[in-house]
Amino acid sequence: MTSQSTDIVFIDSTTSRECHLFEFTSKLRTIMKVNQDLPHDSVNLTVRSVKSCTCSNHDNGDSDRNTNAPRKYSVLDEKALREDDTKLVRDQRVQTMSRSYEIILESIGEDPTRQGLLKTPKRAAEALVFFTKGYEQSIREIVSDAIFDEDCENMVVVKEIDMYSLCEHHMVPFFGKVSVGYLPNKRVLGLSKIARIVEVFSRRLQVQERLTRQIAEAIAEAIKPRGVAVIVECLHMCMIMRGAQKVNSRTTTSAMLGVFREDPKSREEFLSLGRINPF
Ligand SMILES: [Zn+2]
Repeated sequence: MTSQSTDIVFIDSTTSRECHLFEFTSKLRTIMKVNQDLPHDSVNLTVRSVKSCTCSNHDNGDSDRNTNAPRKYSVLDEKALREDDTKLVRDQRVQTMSRSYEIILESIGEDPTRQGLLKTPKRAAEALVFFTKGYEQSIREIVSDAIFDEDCENMVVVKEIDMYSLCEHHMVPFFGKVSVGYLPNKRVLGLSKIARIVEVFSRRLQVQERLTRQIAEAIAEAIKPRGVAVIVECLHMCMIMRGAQKVNSRTTTSAMLGVFREDPKSREEFLSLGRINPF
């Protein structure tokens, strides 16, 4: 691929909006799957060729176009991958996943026809759809009716929000607590929405570092506060059950934006108010 392919822009025909490559490939896959008449090979070929053209230009998949004027990345406007799913598409996802789980059962040496496993593929598929339901909702949808004008200047801290996610490297759970703090700038966010933001981002395939940053950026973009601080502490089953088998090691990540990055006093105040107790 030559560097000219950097100029390719994907337009979502329903919203006339420029869309991210991953969004585009996902839509393409969905359309292909719905249209069962298409030979399966052509689906893979199409998606693969789009992917390879990107990889040569943007290593990490992040929108980082430096030729044409770059569109600023917006956490709020990012469309969720399954936001437009109809019931039919959702059912088809479950069917495809069930078939895949049947193959997995066979591959690990099990007999998918024995009594205890008969309904396992369907149950596992339904569970995976639930574990990843964060792909069904965008952040703007959550925050749009919960931003209030308020002359509050004091730090707002919501601490120890439970979170459950799947690590994107092994697709096994990691879970823990999230504390969020922000310093308002004439606007506040409905408190329950902070937990909802955590929920939506964590119910996707994740890495803890990105999850932490996305929560902070979503709040920063939604209410433009003077600062946002997020701290996440998790146990990773991929560390506990395999490889390192470090049973009690918790992973801590933090994201400090605005005042929290610049002012050690605010940062310390947040770290003491939002402290996560051992779990
Ligand atoms: Zn992992």
